[in-house]
Amino acid sequence: MHTDYLVIGAGISGLAFADTLVEHSDADIVIVDRRSAPGGHWTDVYPFVRLHSPSAYYGVSSLRLGHDRIDTEGPNAGLYERASAEELWSYFHEVAARLTSTGRVRLMLGHEVLGDEHGTVQVRDLETGVVHDIRARRRIVDARFLETSVPATHTPTFEVAADASFVPVHRLPEAAGSASDFTVLGSGKTAVDAVLWLLGHDVDPEHIRWVRPRDAYFHDREAFQALDLVVDALEGFAIDAEAGARATSLPDLVADLEDQGRLIRLDTAAPATMYRGAMLSMHELEQARRIADVVRLGHVTRIERDRLVLEHGELPAGGALHIDATASGLRLADAQPIFTPGRMTLQQVRHKTPPFNAALLAWVEANREDDEEKNRLCPPNPFTRSVEEWARMVARTWRTEGGWRTEPDLQAWTYSTRLNMMQALPHHLDEPRAQAALSRYAGNVGDAVLRLEELAAAG
Ligand SMILES: Cc1cc2nc3c(=O)[nH]c(=O)nc-3n(C[C@H](O)[C@H](O)[C@H](O)COP(=O)(O)OP(=O)(O)OC[C@H]3O[C@@H](n4cnc5c(N)ncnc54)[C@H](O)[C@@H]3O)c2cc1C
Repeated sequence: MHTDYLVIGAGISGLAFADTLVEHSDADIVIVDRRSAPGGHWTDVYPFVRLHSPSAYYGVSSLRLGHDRIDTEGPNAGLYERASAEELWSYFHEVAARLTSTGRVRLMLGHEVLGDEHGTVQVRDLETGVVHDIRARRRIVDARFLETSVPATHTPTFEVAADASFVPVHRLPEAAGSASDFTVLGSGKTAVDAVLWLLGHDVDPEHIRWVRPRDAYFHDREAFQALDLVVDALEGFAIDAEAGARATSLPDLVADLEDQGRLIRLDTAAPATMYRGAMLSMHELEQARRIADVVRLGHVTRIERDRLVLEHGELPAGGALHIDATASGLRLADAQPIFTPGRMTLQQVRHKTPPFNAALLAWVEANREDDEEKNRLCPPNPFTRSVEEWARMVARTWRTEGGWRTEPDLQAWTYSTRLNMMQALPHHLDEPRAQAALSRYAGNVGDAVLRLEELAAAG
């Protein structure tokens, strides 16, 4: 079998890449995924998940996700809607159907890539075991390099005794009835969701224990809105640029961002170091803060029927159901050049919004000739391991975006795609609030890049 582009991974990165490449080139594309449905990690997600970011800029460029409505009630009131798991599943099926209906995209689900050599990829049909060779005439596109790890499919880093009361978070709804006390394991957004699910099902906060090996910083979702609320996002970026330009050290920068509401955390009395860019609404934050029994004894090492063993101590299990929300989520990989001969390795370029990045890389692939030029426009920007890496990641984004200012066609594309959170900004530029925020941002971003790069290099 031959194709122009062999895309490994039918998660949102692979789909958003193919969607934009189909629109901007005449390429033939094969997408391979070992899962039996499109959508990547979302196919194994916990049933009560929602996007943490608005649907307005998630998905693929050519198809809206949801209705771009602002929620009028509930915990997300006043903010753009966020897709549920069911909405995402049906969206991915529609995207896959639209791609294949072009006659230029073939989707091989239930097929695993075993390896590749000289542009030929070995793909095994997981049902029959038959191995096919697929030759990629232009590129092999690795859209699984940043493969997301979720509790349903990961292997926990701790031991679980056979008689321990333990479930991965996606099984919480069916298992919750068997317990009256719960121990949530994990510090990130998935753990917050597990706690909110329990509270939403009338579990008394006193019956919830929360094991947080290290606390996390989050963003207030209100500051990352698009479309009619895009000026709010711009004001947030103006605050970031001012904070970056005047930063004297990484800890002071983090404190400054927190003082201005750009970073939020569950417990302001406990140090937080983790940062994955996840968003919470202030309502969710307040709810999650109702849990008083927070265990900070390091990572869990073993769960037994009667005790919970951690790095720095142990506790009686107390008959609780333990809920695993410890998967690492985003893969923390070192940066690699994105464009190399015969291959692309999809990675983050602008921080946040993985679908935007995948589509951007497809657009650049279709509209620029030379790999050196493509890599200059799209340097990789690894995910953060700690909050202090915010400086490095944001400075990289701003320097990269600065490099796009002399590329009018690329600029025009970024304002044409729904995947760009700032797409609607040009329609609001005559508003005084937008002008004030833009001038604060533009007046500081240059200094901020230099200052943040300096601080990040000094570590
Ligand atoms: C709970 C949760 C909520 C999130 N919410 C948001 C959000 O609201 N907004 C946001 O921007 N981001 C969010 N994220 C981040 C999210 O990970 C990305 O948005 C995006 O879904 C990542 O997609 P991906 O295609 O890069 O990776 P994946 O979804 O992991 O897809 C990679 C695919 O590659 C396939 N694959 C791997 N190896 C092989 C092989 N050898 N052969 C064949 N196939 C292979 C895998 O089966 C998989 O389907 C969330 C993440 C989690 C865990």
